[in-house]
Amino acid sequence: MRIAIDMDEVLADPIHKFIQLYNRDHQVPLDLLIHPGTEIFQNVPAEVSDKWKEYINEKGFFRDLPVIEGAVDAVQKLQQHYEVYIVSAAMEFKNSLEDKMDWLSQHFPFISWKQIVFCGEKIVDVDIMIDDRIKNFKDFKGRPLLFTSPHNLLITDYERVDNWQQVLKKLL
Ligand SMILES: [Mg+2]
Repeated sequence: MRIAIDMDEVLADPIHKFIQLYNRDHQVPLDLLIHPGTEIFQNVPAEVSDKWKEYINEKGFFRDLPVIEGAVDAVQKLQQHYEVYIVSAAMEFKNSLEDKMDWLSQHFPFISWKQIVFCGEKIVDVDIMIDDRIKNFKDFKGRPLLFTSPHNLLITDYERVDNWQQVLKKLL
């Protein structure tokens, strides 16, 4: 069986980085609360809410993102039972490609380049997809697992996992 695993907000934490940058440049508090069902840019002052686009397109943005807790251990364990693929819609941000490759080889050295799919739309032939964005589940015929992130907290019509411990509980 094949599993597709998303990167941002599933393996890597861009929200933490956005908050740090907004804090550095616009004094947004580091403990900024992101209200359930909203994106980060909806929780910062309106006059700087577009800044995230600059940040995310900067070379290096994706290089030093924190790893989501438990992700390394969980992917390693899943790999003993499944064919694991990292599937990221990296084409949206062309400067992210090299950063994402470097980030993966630093934190997930056991994932080979053959298991990495950088794409536009996630049209993939896999059995299970772990992702925080339901747009990626559209037309997906397998079993979607919605990985919890602030923006998707109000969505109720998908099987949800709150963390990597729950993923392992369901899939091992
Ligand atoms: Mg994501």
